[in-house]
Amino acid sequence: MTGSGFEIEEISGVEIVRCRPLASVPGLAHAFSTRRGGEAGDFDLGRAEDRGEEIRSRRSRFLRAAGMEGGTAAVVRQVHGCRVIRAGEAGADVEADGVAWMPGDPPGLAPSVRTADCVPILIAERDGRAFAAVHAGWRGTLGGIVPRAVETLASAGFPPERLVAAMGPAILPCCYEVGPEVTALAARAGLAAAVAPAARGGLPARLDLHGALRAQLEAAGVPPGSIHAAPLCVRCLDGRFFSHRREGGAAGRMMASIGFARRTGAPGGVRT
Ligand SMILES: [Zn+2]
Repeated sequence: MTGSGFEIEEISGVEIVRCRPLASVPGLAHAFSTRRGGEAGDFDLGRAEDRGEEIRSRRSRFLRAAGMEGGTAAVVRQVHGCRVIRAGEAGADVEADGVAWMPGDPPGLAPSVRTADCVPILIAERDGRAFAAVHAGWRGTLGGIVPRAVETLASAGFPPERLVAAMGPAILPCCYEVGPEVTALAARAGLAAAVAPAARGGLPARLDLHGALRAQLEAAGVPPGSIHAAPLCVRCLDGRFFSHRREGGAAGRMMASIGFARRTGAPGGVRT
């Protein structure tokens, strides 16, 4: 991953992926999980509706490893849509695919999304005054959830040119075959460049979600140099990541979270 800006670390037995440019945003912490959490089995961080003690305990171990000790993952019921809500409105029964923390939201909440092929995107204002987590598979990407998240932050006074975006491990074009219906929808969404056309011999077309999201972020005004993508394909890297395409419905879930780092204050607030 030399030059990508991403690194894999192990902290207290929990393996995490971090984006260095995002990690340099003052006062914030973030991480993308893997399936390795120092336990005998998989480090499955669960679906929104999973509220068991084991999942809760893993999520807090993950947040601690990420540097957000004492924080709470603000999760939503992900539906491959384009709705972005505030962290203070998040909940396991709330349907949305993006969670934004903006001033006024409780400082202990860490916007979080769960994935097993789709792209987790973490976005921060460069001074750490606002941030968001977004879940984008092909439906959310073509529907424009990431530009929606950028607009949400902009409407609260955090313009795109001040944002840093990190796209985490996801299914990459090496493995993401799509049918003609998705190819057609991508073209209609102005994202034809992100589809590698079907080759001669009938091979299926492949969709580059990272590439499509990068194009959307740039079009929304995020500086190209502030957009980062982890060169980690979850389907290729069996043993390190969950993949819905590889494992089917039984696949566990990774989580991506961003929030205030421990021992730092939220703007104007006090953390315990
Ligand atoms: Zn792959």
